[in-house]
Amino acid sequence: MGRVAIGGANAIVVQTMVNTPTEEVQRTIDEINRAAVAGAEIVRVAVPDRRAAEALADIKKGTDVPLVADIHFNFRFALIAADAGFDKLRINPGNIGGDDKVRAVVDKAGEKGIPIRIGVNHGSVERELIDKYGGPKPAAMVESAMRHVELLEKHDFRDIVISIKASSPLETIECYEMVAGKCDYPLHLGVTEAGTAFIGAIKTAVALGHLLYRGIGDTLRVSLSADIEQEVKAAWAILKALGLRRRGLELVSCPSCGRTETNVYELAEKVEKALEGTNKDIKVAVMGCVVNGPGEAADADIGVIGGKGRVMLTRKGRIIGRYDEAEIFEALMREIAATEPAN
Ligand code: SF4
Repeated sequence: MGRVAIGGANAIVVQTMVNTPTEEVQRTIDEINRAAVAGAEIVRVAVPDRRAAEALADIKKGTDVPLVADIHFNFRFALIAADAGFDKLRINPGNIGGDDKVRAVVDKAGEKGIPIRIGVNHGSVERELIDKYGGPKPAAMVESAMRHVELLEKHDFRDIVISIKASSPLETIECYEMVAGKCDYPLHLGVTEAGTAFIGAIKTAVALGHLLYRGIGDTLRVSLSADIEQEVKAAWAILKALGLRRRGLELVSCPSCGRTETNVYELAEKVEKALEGTNKDIKVAVMGCVVNGPGEAADADIGVIGGKGRVMLTRKGRIIGRYDEAEIFEALMREIAATEPAN
C-alpha cells in the first residue's frame, strides 16, 4: 500500500479514518496530516458521494500519507479513487451491482497495483445469511466476507485485505480466528463502534490483544467516539504493550501508596503529555518512593524516584542528581533531550 507493506512478516500497521467532509479538501488534508503526526501510517477517507469522489485527486496531491478510499455500492467512485492515486480501496464487491462492475474495479486495481479491502461488520451481513445463522453472528460475518473474497478471486484478483468487525470484543475474536483458519490474506483488525475513548480503547485492547498475541492480524484501527489522536494513541499503546512495535515514550509509573514521597500522578501525566508525538523510543519510570523505585527504574532509560523532600533522577539505574520537586520536571526534560533512543 504505497510505502507501507501489510501482511506476512511486516510490522503491524496503525491506521485511522478522518471524519472531515471529504469534499472540503484542505480540511481533509490537514486532518490526514494531523493523524500522521500522531502516528497513523495509513489513513482512510470516506467517499459517500460524487463531490467526495471528485475531491480525492486533490487530497492525494496534498499529502504523502498512504490513503484508503472507503466506498459503498458505487463502483465508479472506486475507479475515480484508483485514478486519483489512492493506495487502497475499501469496497465489498458483492454490493456493487454485478459481475461487470466487479471486473471493472478489479481491472483498475490491478492496473494501479493497489489492494482491495473487504470490510464486513455486523451491519453489512446479507439478509439471507442473517436468516441462515439466526442473526449477524460471527459465522454469518465470516461467510459474508468469504463470498466477497470469492468474487474477487473469480477474476484472479488476490491483492486482498479482510476485516470482519463486531462491536463485541468476544465476537470480534471469534470472527478473526475463524477467518484466519480459512485463508491467508492479511487481516485488518478492529472492534467496530467500540465506544468512547476509555471504554472503547479497553474493548479494542481486549479483542486485539488476544488476536495479535496469537499472531492474527496485520493492521489495525481503533474505532472510538473520540478525537483521531486518541484512536492512534490507543492503537500504539496496544502494539507497544504486546512488544510488537516501539514508538515514542514508554512510561512506567507506580500507582503510589502510603509510602509515596512525590506527586506521581502529576509528574507521570506531565511527562506523558510533554512527550506525546515524539519519535524518540525511550523508557521513563516515575516511582513514588525509594522502596521499589530504584529496582523498577533500573531497567528504564531514565528514572524519577520520589524521596524525602528531594526527587532522585537516575539514568539506567545510576543516580545522576537530586532535585527539589519544583525543579524535577525541567531536569527530567533535559535528561530526555540528551538521551539516545533505546533501540
Ligand atoms: S513505588 Fe513506592 S510509592 Fe510507588 S506504589 Fe510502590 S511502594 Fe508505593
